[in-house]
Amino acid sequence: MLIQDLIDRAGMSRFQVAVVGICLVINLVDGFDVLVMGFAASGVAVEWSLTESQVGLLLSSGLVGMALGSALVAPLADRIGRRPLTLVCLAACAAGMALAAVGTGPAVLALCRLLTGLGIGGMVAGLPVINSEYTPRRLRGTMIALYATGLLLGGAVAALLISQYGWRATFAVGAALTLAMLLVTALALPESLDYLAHRRPAGALARINGLLGRMRLAPVEALPPLPPRERSGVRAAVLRGQGAVRLALLWTAYFIMMAGFYLAASWTPRLLEQSGYSAGQGVSGGVLLNLGGIAGTLLFGALALRAPGRVLTMLAFLAAGAAFLTMGLVLGTTAAALAAAVAVGISVNAAGAGLNAGAPGLYPAGVRATGAGWAMAFGRLGALTAPRPGGAAPGPLPGPGDAVQHVRAAAGRGRARGRRHHLVRRAGLCARAHDQGEPMKAVRLHDYHKHPVVDEVPEPEPSGPLDVIVRIGGAGVCRTDLHIIEGQWAEAMAPRLPYTIGHENAGWVHAVGEGVTNVRVGDTVILHPQPSCGLCPACRAGRDMQCADAFFPGVSGHDGGMAEYLRTTARACVRLDPDTDPADVAALADAGITAYHAVRKALPLLHPGTSAVVLGAGGLGHIGVQALAALTAARIIVVDRNPGALHLAASIGADATVPADGDHVEAVRALTGGRGADVVFDFVAEQGAEQDAWEMTAPAGSLFVVGYGGELWIPTMALVAEEKNVIGNMVGTYTDLAELMVLAQAGKVTLHTVRYPLEEAPRALDDLALGRIRGRAILVP
Ligand SMILES: [Zn+2]
Ligand SMILES: [Zn+2]
Repeated sequence: MLIQDLIDRAGMSRFQVAVVGICLVINLVDGFDVLVMGFAASGVAVEWSLTESQVGLLLSSGLVGMALGSALVAPLADRIGRRPLTLVCLAACAAGMALAAVGTGPAVLALCRLLTGLGIGGMVAGLPVINSEYTPRRLRGTMIALYATGLLLGGAVAALLISQYGWRATFAVGAALTLAMLLVTALALPESLDYLAHRRPAGALARINGLLGRMRLAPVEALPPLPPRERSGVRAAVLRGQGAVRLALLWTAYFIMMAGFYLAASWTPRLLEQSGYSAGQGVSGGVLLNLGGIAGTLLFGALALRAPGRVLTMLAFLAAGAAFLTMGLVLGTTAAALAAAVAVGISVNAAGAGLNAGAPGLYPAGVRATGAGWAMAFGRLGALTAPRPGGAAPGPLPGPGDAVQHVRAAAGRGRARGRRHHLVRRAGLCARAHDQGEPMKAVRLHDYHKHPVVDEVPEPEPSGPLDVIVRIGGAGVCRTDLHIIEGQWAEAMAPRLPYTIGHENAGWVHAVGEGVTNVRVGDTVILHPQPSCGLCPACRAGRDMQCADAFFPGVSGHDGGMAEYLRTTARACVRLDPDTDPADVAALADAGITAYHAVRKALPLLHPGTSAVVLGAGGLGHIGVQALAALTAARIIVVDRNPGALHLAASIGADATVPADGDHVEAVRALTGGRGADVVFDFVAEQGAEQDAWEMTAPAGSLFVVGYGGELWIPTMALVAEEKNVIGNMVGTYTDLAELMVLAQAGKVTLHTVRYPLEEAPRALDDLALGRIRGRAILVP
């Protein structure tokens, strides 16, 4: 058409660059709004104690909204105009995001996500249309590719914000950004030229000439003639004749592209884990996939300057097909499969950029948004069919990683058969090979600095008279597990690899040795993490952790509880109310007992009128706060970097909260009449917190060091002149655990938990390393 020819012949004016820029930023904000839920899920799940299926509903309601938006809302652009629809959709998005930030429960949040999804689905089809109309044909592929990177960048920004400020603040930021783009759009985004030329709203010619003027192009004298077939209506143009063939081809292309995208998205993180990259090393599947996506779309954009988009899109699909095929062939070799999965990610993103650039042009202007919207909506179905790891296994939809786990487990069985297991004889545990047990799943550390692997190993059996076999109901995931993987315990404990990790365990008694009298098969129990001998001086004084003849399942090279069954001893079992869900309390076995132990030791110092600081209100700290509130009349001051953690602390007993923003030592002094606190519990003890904790401690006060990793530097003069005390704390005693369970069963100490299936241990460890877990991660076999 004439107008398009004018644009194609000229360069891009500043106005056109601004239009493309606005579309890109809107897409960035869309990416933020869409992807935010995936990163927020764990925080939301903790705050509201959600089940897996509730989290799944939250994640899918946004996607359902997008599909509905593309199918039902996007076509409105062909009737009311692209610009008004974009404004309405942005408003819907902003409302959904704002309401989500103050959401009171999962149902409300799901509705918010649906609303946001509808808004995004409604505009994602129209924006590339505006974008490409204002771009000369030769630059179109490149501009659309640039535009497409916006979505991925937006997701990355959301992920960053969540790790720093928590999910509510991030949703609020998304709402503000969306609102800002609503204003920018209202002020500066023009209507689609083709829409004006073909739908011909009142004053169309004047508006077109105004826009041409802003592009420094000559005005046109009349609107171009309408091709006759467009008078016959939307459905006819999109669905009949040549349109039907296009529809079939385009819909299939979108379907395959989306299936490929989700295939890469669900496999890459798992393959990364399998090849041994831990989140502690700063590599995560999501990040890699985003980078691959940006690389793919930019590559497409660069090539589109030199080659026709249609050819490039075809090549991208061919490359994606080859990558798929390769991935299928090399699935047994993790590194090769990973490379292939990344290649799939890059090529399907390039193909997506090509489709988005080309699709609008396939339809006459009057039905462009409808045609592209329907194609995208249909493509979303492709996402559902993406072969997740596990393939066509019967039964419930298999989770990511199943097939690979299977390969690994089979390899593990082979290794086990070729070698005898020798356990070190300690604490009355008989050493013997135990190949005869039934196979069970266990999370085993094979190499330091690599993810543990879910293997099949023989079930443990009682081998000494005081042995107890526990069927695990919940195993806590702890920062100590990350330290173990990093090799920090290698020297102190000299464990022999591989072994099963997991030292925060609760479950049901499954079998007992002939000398066990304190528990029976079927009892619900939580386990003291270190089974002790009961005979040495430390044991007789009740100091279980200092036992001369103890072992530490999950840490010392003895198999721990991230498995279906665990071997421990009678002395480690604390019996619980039979109705207790072990997964609710498992982490009290280490995180809980450690916090409680320090508070319990400090009790004589915390008479009414005193003050106590809890530095670090994470997994341990939030239990420390509850124990202090339950046992003392001291004023409780909580210091933490994370506003979410402070919010939680205030709701469970903190009298005052102080953000760790650099002025926190002064803030604590101000709250304590300038003296500092009588008792400071340092649950962090690294990265400078240890020194802050010392500075916050009042003269004659006591600093209880619970966290570890840093170094405390104290001039002896200060120690002597002010008579301050520094007290170390290592886990806790059996009695501490028993007392803590009394508090827990009375509801005075509750643990905030996020549950993962046992098979997803690597993901749980990543989430912990990346600070995505509020409260405590629990593996449930
Ligand atoms: Zn622990
Ligand atoms: Zn002992």
